[in-house]
Formats: sequence, C-alpha cells, structure tokens
Amino acid sequence: MKAAVLTRTAGVASRPLEIREVRDPVPAPGQILLRVRACGMCRTDLHIVEGELKPLRDRVIPGHQIVGEAPDGARFGVTWMGGVDGTCEYCHRGEENLCDVPVFTGYSVDGGYAEFTVAGSDFAIPLPAGLTDLEIAPLLCAGVIGFRSLRVAGVQRGERVGLFGFGASAHLALPVLRAWGCRVYVCTRGSAHRKLAEWLGADWVGAERDRPPTPLDRAITFAPSGNVVIAALASLRKGGVVAINAIHLDHIPEFDYDSLLWGERQIRSVANVTRADARDFLELASEIGLRPKVTVFRLEQANEALLAMKNDAIDGAAVLVP
Ligand SMILES: [Zn+2]
Ligand SMILES: [Zn+2]
Repeated sequence: MKAAVLTRTAGVASRPLEIREVRDPVPAPGQILLRVRACGMCRTDLHIVEGELKPLRDRVIPGHQIVGEAPDGARFGVTWMGGVDGTCEYCHRGEENLCDVPVFTGYSVDGGYAEFTVAGSDFAIPLPAGLTDLEIAPLLCAGVIGFRSLRVAGVQRGERVGLFGFGASAHLALPVLRAWGCRVYVCTRGSAHRKLAEWLGADWVGAERDRPPTPLDRAITFAPSGNVVIAALASLRKGGVVAINAIHLDHIPEFDYDSLLWGERQIRSVANVTRADARDFLELASEIGLRPKVTVFRLEQANEALLAMKNDAIDGAAVLVP
C-alpha cells in the first residue's frame, strides 16, 4: 500500500514525510483491518513530525482521525486513543483517557496517512449514517477533543464561553455551544479565522490581543501558547475555568496570583478523549447537523498540508484522502 512514513523528525518545510510503498498491515487478534476512506490532519501530527513530541518508534505512519471501511463494508472511526491496558488505576476509575499505558494512533502505532490501517476492535467506533467521510474525519480528533474541552471546562447551557484561537477544534466547538444556547466570544489572530467565527455565529469576535467585553464563565484555549492561557485567565469571572486544549505548550509565563487565579478560578488541561466522548459527540454532531469546513489533500500532499496548517493557511480542517 501507499503511505506517508516518518523516519526522521524535522521541520515540515523540509518534507520529512516520505510517500512510498510499504507492506499492507495485518490485523492481530482483537484488531480489524480498515481501508482508509479519509484521515483528518491535526496539529498533534505536526508536533509528531517536527519532533516536539519525542519519537516512540523508528518509523511511524501518522494520522489519528481515521474514517475506515471494514472488509464487510461497515464504517468505523478511529481516534487518537487507539487502546488502553484496561487494568491501571485510571482505567478502573473510568478515566481511560488518562490510562498509564495508552496506545496512541499515529504515534505509538501506525495511523491513517495510508491506504490501509489496523485498529483495535474495541476502539473502532461505529459511525452515524448522516455524515459523509469528509465531514466525519475532522470530528474524530479536533471535534471530539473540542467537545471534551467543553466538558472539562464545565460548560453549562446558556453560559458565556470564550474560545481563544480558532482553528480546526474551535470551529467545531462553536456550533455545539450555539446548540446549547451559550454566548460565544472568540479571540484569534488572522482575519480569515475571525471571518469564519463571525460566519459561524459567534456573538463577539476579536483579535489576539483584544479582550471579550464581558467576564467569561468558561474559556478554552486552542493555541500552543502560554500567553494565550494567561489572556484567557484574565477574561474569567470569579469561579470561572480555563481549559487548555493543547497537547504541547511553549511555556506559561509567570503571572499574578492575586488578580488572575484568586477567586476560585481554575486552569485545567485536557488530555486525550474517552470512547464515551467520541460516541456522545458524534451523536450530537449528527443530531445538530455539524458539518465541518474541510480542505481536502491527496496523500501525496501530506507534507504540503502540514506546512499549510503550520502557517495557519487552512480554513477549518485539513483531510487527507488516499
Ligand atoms: Zn489530533
Ligand atoms: Zn489503563
């Protein structure tokens, strides 16, 4: 099969992914073989390819938002959570997203930048019929983790919620917030992102350094920047929560406890997703007709697509089609 293979991490401008023929994957017991129909691209892929997330293997095929077809024709989704041990303290607590020995699709095992992949049967999620392959792919990471971020931030119906940064994940969280009757405030750099936020019905849209006009109940940060976390914190009411939706952050600058965190404000991180998050979100997405804005790339264009993502040159989500 054809695949985009990473053997040496490097800046995406140097085209580190090799597009080449590799042996077809063979499912082990408890796994299923999937023909990849579409695979979403994610900032985490960029961190893997560029080495900000340290390599776990000599060679890996990235991609963890896989819409695949089983040999019997059934359609499944595969997310970043490729499996858990089922035995650790966190698995027993029902917090499988925190599992001590997780399997990460497209990082600790091969993912979906390929014509075929294998997945754990338990972690292949049956997909709702109402949405197309291209519509579902970005939902499987950007969408699900955006949804989990809303849960981690404790968003209640009708609240004032800030989205700091407006890429693939935030643009999928916004329609969910609107469906819940929330007022949505978006701070983001790039006029294209601001236009998209307005078009999707944000109540207020500002630039990176602007502050929402009213204190927020919840804020979710999507940029890999500690400065953005502080900006979000500075926008909260007392008792408000910032949820950080970033697997990697540059650094969090020193900040003033008395004015920014006192008053029972909270900062929380969002780590991975559970299968329940994925199922609940996909159900809601099909219910509210969540149709992500998508830019399609061929498998051969994987490097170019990652570079465009790095440069914030893509509206909404990038999807690879083998
Ligand atoms: Zn992802
Ligand atoms: Zn576990």
